This record gives sequence, C-alpha cells and structure tokens, in this order.
Amino acid sequence: MTRDLPATLAALAAALPPGVLTPGPDVPARHRQDWSDIDPIEPAALLRPRSTAEVAEALAACNRLGLPVVPQGGLTGLAGGAHPTPGAVVLSLERMQGIEVLDEVGSTMTVLAGTPLAVVQAAAEAVGLHYPVDLGARGSCTIGGNLSTNAGGVRVIRYGMTRENVLGVEFVLADGTVLDLLNTMIKNNAGYDLKHLVIGAEGTLGIVTRAVLRLQPKPASVATALCAVADFAAVTDLLKHLRRRLGPGLTVFEGMWPCYFDFMADRLGTVRRPFAARHGAYVLVEASGFADEAVAQRLEAALAERIDAGAVEDVVIAASERDVRDLWAIREGVSEYGRLLGKIVGYDLGVPIAAMGTLVEAIHRDVEARWPDAHVLCYGHVGDSNLHVVVHIPSAGGHQPHDALDAVVYPLATRFGGTVSAEHGIGILKRAYLPLARSPAAIAVMHRIKGALDPAGILNPGKVLPPAERG
Ligand SMILES: Cc1cc2nc3c(=O)[nH]c(=O)nc-3n(C[C@H](O)[C@H](O)[C@H](O)COP(=O)(O)OP(=O)(O)OC[C@H]3O[C@@H](n4cnc5c(N)ncnc54)[C@H](O)[C@@H]3O)c2cc1C
Repeated sequence: MTRDLPATLAALAAALPPGVLTPGPDVPARHRQDWSDIDPIEPAALLRPRSTAEVAEALAACNRLGLPVVPQGGLTGLAGGAHPTPGAVVLSLERMQGIEVLDEVGSTMTVLAGTPLAVVQAAAEAVGLHYPVDLGARGSCTIGGNLSTNAGGVRVIRYGMTRENVLGVEFVLADGTVLDLLNTMIKNNAGYDLKHLVIGAEGTLGIVTRAVLRLQPKPASVATALCAVADFAAVTDLLKHLRRRLGPGLTVFEGMWPCYFDFMADRLGTVRRPFAARHGAYVLVEASGFADEAVAQRLEAALAERIDAGAVEDVVIAASERDVRDLWAIREGVSEYGRLLGKIVGYDLGVPIAAMGTLVEAIHRDVEARWPDAHVLCYGHVGDSNLHVVVHIPSAGGHQPHDALDAVVYPLATRFGGTVSAEHGIGILKRAYLPLARSPAAIAVMHRIKGALDPAGILNPGKVLPPAERG
C-alpha cells in the first residue's frame, strides 16, 4: 500500500480524543519491542485508549485510513505477536485496568483487558476464590494478552488453558463494532459462541476490552514434592499413578530433564541442590485439596507406593513455605536465561506425552550433531503434553542461528505427532511453520474468518497466518 504516512497520522490524531495518540518518536522504548527478543521498531504512533468507546473510535478511524494496528498488552509474549510492524500504530490497553465486578455467588470476575494477571489472582484470593491460570510472567502479562494467546501455564493439567476459564468477552472488531459477549453463566448455547474467535487469535481478529473470568474455590491446602526418577518412562508411570491416586487433586506435574535440572541447580547460585545424587529425570508435583491434613498425607502415601515399587528413586516433600519456594526455584529458573546464557532460542512444542522422551532424545541428537557446543535444555508441562526446549550455542554469541535451528526442531516435533506451539502462539516467529501443524484446508478457513472479520486486513497484519494462496 502506498500512502502518505504523516498525512494519515494527522487524520488519525484529528479523529481521536486528545491524549490518545503519542507520535512515533515520542513512543516509550518498551512499546518498541516485546519480550521475544526481536530488534526494536519505532511504531508509527502509540494509541492508549481509556475506554471501549475509545478503542472503537480508534479502530474505526484506522480501518477507514487503512492504517495497520498492533495490539499490545503486557508485552511478555514470546512469539513476537505484539512486536510492532513497520508503518503500523501500536494500541496498548495499559490505561484500561481494573476489576469491575467480583460475583462471589456466581464465582465470576469481570475485568478490563489491561489488568495484570497477578492483580486478578490476588483479588480472587482475597475473597477465598482462585483464578487458576498461572504463569511466570504473572506480574506483567495482562488478561487481554492471556486471552489473545490462550495462555496455559503450570495448572493446565487440572483447570485447562485460558479458554476453559473464560465465560464472556467484550471485543472490538476492526471496523469499530463493539461485540458485548459478557456472559456470566456456565451454560449458554444460544448460537455460535463467538468469544472463541478472539481467544488465541493473537490480536488478528479483534481487540479484547473486557473479560468475564471463571473463578474456582481456593484450595485449603497444597502439598508440593520434587521427585527424582530413572528415566522418562518412570515419569509417565508416575503421571499415571498420581492421576489414579489423586484424581483432580493433582494440580501440577512439571518435568525436567537432567540437561535442564543440572544446569539450573549448578548455575543459579541461589538454590541448594535438592538431591545428593544425579538422576535421569525430575518431576515437580503439586496436590491441592480442601481438608488441611489429607492432601499432604495422600500425596505422601501415593509417592511412597512408587518408592516401594522402585519406580521413584528419591523424593523431597516441602515442609514449609520456604521449602515450596526452594522446590519451585529450579523450575522457575527460566526467567534467568538472559543472565545465565545470554541469547537463546526457545521452543514451546506440543507432543503426545508418550512420544515426549523420544522427541527430547532426537532434538539433542540432531542439534548437537550440527552444533557440538550447543546447550539444549528440556523441561515442560509434561502432564499437558507441552515440552519447552531452550537452545544456546556459545560459539554463535549474540547471533544465534534461529532459522537453522527452527528447520531442525519444528519438523522433528511434527514428525512425532506434535505441534509448533503448545501455548505461546504463532506470532511472527513461527508463522512459516504453521503449515507443519495445520492442514491447508484449516489454514484456508483461518484466512476466510480473517477476511470476514477484518476485510481491510488492519489487525496485526503479518502475524499468525502465512500469506494466502492465490487460486
Ligand atoms: C517468564 C515468562 C514465562 C511465561 N510463561 C508462560 C506460560 O507458562 N504459559 C504461557 O502460555 N505463556 C507464557 N509466557 C508467555 C506470555 O506471558 C503469555 O503469552 C501472555 O499471555 C502474554 O500476555 P501479554 O499481556 O504480555 O500479551 P502481549 O505480549 O502484549 O501480546 C501477546 C499477543 O496478544 C495480542 N494482544 C495483547 N493484548 C490484546 C488485546 N487486549 N486484544 C487483542 N489482542 C491482544 C498481541 O497483539 C500479541 O499478539 C511466559 C512469558 C514469560 C516472559
């Protein structure tokens, strides 16, 4: 598209209430890139609406002017979805924060899209309820970003991903139409459930302005244990056993391969090594319940059975809040990659659980064959078939070979029946690999939905969908 950008921006500024638009050169640095480590780009302008009506005005004007819009939440996304694209304005929800309704009887919370996840969690806890979606970026990521990426996290095994924890949404279409779908009921089968269009759409189909979240009872007690086992077969054996013994009480099942666990235990510098010996795999387990004593006893009994059977080699059970923090510290070491490794290439693969151990072996084999000095760290939400892999090649320094690594890792994941993104989304970084995970027919339907909801293609162009086939 050829257009006179300064004139288009002047027309946009004139169409908006004062204070909504910040011109490109004045845009604060944090809006020039997200956390996915792509080089910063100066957006054409920053839009910071204060209400749904202002979001609608902004989108209607951008649509009329043919100006692309990149939605931004907390910018913690790891697929480049909120990263500015050249010539586009960015629209941040940062002024739209707050909890509007907390209905303890219906167990719902209605929140503005710019509200940080941690604020929502704390508000639920304060009234004895629980918003179970939880991830390491909780202090910075927003509910709008969580919905748009269908964020997962550490308790999916029990409560599902964001999609399963949202009852209603308000969102604005590219032409400025406001869709009020703020349903608060668990059951509502009145026609198509349109909220699912924007959940996981990464800002390409609409801008989320409000959400009705489903809350759960807050568990009265939580027991945490770190288990050491011989190999991945023992990990899956433990998963089957704990599911049978704890049922819905099993709320976390996080696996760590020695490449990850030993690296973090040796290098973090802030944690004691929990086990004297080294083992073939490690699992962080959490059980939740509603009677104080019973949950810890049930978890201990279930683990004792596996130790007696020789299927678990060692266990540390947390006896205090401090122990819980220590046991989580190695798993949450992921936020220290920058300090410990420098530049990394991260993968968020999905793969059927039974194939996960073989996939990890294949990734080690193929990556290390090509880059013998590579650090390959594997861990993940094993109970949800989600494997995270982080690669750092010391000899490559600040120029990690992203494309060459992608060409090795993604085809391996899909060869084992997996997907290129379990929870972080496609954004810009995985767009070229979407066809490995979705059929041509499915991608064609995605293009038709995009064309129907955003015919001018202004919402987050270049994200998620590869260019349409011309027929
Ligand atoms: C330390 C760390 C740990 C993480 N752990 C997890 C994890 O366990 N599980 C997981 O799923 N993710 C995880 N993430 C990724 C990230 O936190 C999530 O993707 C999160 O949901 C992004 O929210 P955000 O508000 O930062 O969105 P942003 O990064 O700002 O945006 C993400 C995408 O959503 C779009 N978007 C944002 N707001 C809106 C809106 N209101 N309307 C429409 N589109 C919008 C953007 O355009 C972009 O495409 C982690 C990230 C970090 C840094």
